[in-house]
Amino acid sequence: MARYTGSACRLCRRENLKLFLKGDRCYGDKCAFERRPYAPGQHGQRRGGKASDYRIQLREKQKVKRIYGLLERQFRGTYQRAERQKGVTGTNLLMLLESRLDNVVYRMGFANSRAQARELILHGHFAINGRKATIASQRLKAGDKVEVREGSRAIPQIIGAIETVVRRGIPGWLEVDKDNFKGTFKALPNREDLTMPIQEQLIVELYSK
Ligand code: SF4
Repeated sequence: MARYTGSACRLCRRENLKLFLKGDRCYGDKCAFERRPYAPGQHGQRRGGKASDYRIQLREKQKVKRIYGLLERQFRGTYQRAERQKGVTGTNLLMLLESRLDNVVYRMGFANSRAQARELILHGHFAINGRKATIASQRLKAGDKVEVREGSRAIPQIIGAIETVVRRGIPGWLEVDKDNFKGTFKALPNREDLTMPIQEQLIVELYSK
């Protein structure tokens, strides 16, 4: 699967927001955004003029895409799926992103970042409802059980992630039994449960042009 291989911290600086892409490092004083809170590149510190509507919408889309670690084609595909569903397209989009296996593994605290979760999933370290799962984009539904497979429970990245998840906390729509390396996707979150500053309506406006 294609993926972004550049600097994660550069993305935070571009979006002017901590996107928490590098696990533990994001909470320490080594965070690049804390040290240089301006856009990367030669003109990063220049004061920008008034942003056009298009630019604001584009930045919002880029921000959400980067939080969840998707490339344009995958993100657009998810958006189109959200559009076909009943309800509010922007909310549908966020729910589809939240129900991805890589996101759930990260949120449950079995990985330090969504990127690390993807890597671990790809290597076959997780199971859904008892069956090995290797597709990071697989969508979970209410009641699905995620577990670290028995032979993978000594992996240092997984152990490390479980030890440090307390920093960000486990959201209420997930239930996690850390001692047994298991968790349940209880339900989709409510929109107000998602606390990152996201204005999904701007993405809808962008793609509706
Ligand atoms: Fe972003 Fe800071 Fe984490 Fe780097 S360390 S990914 S700048 S939050």
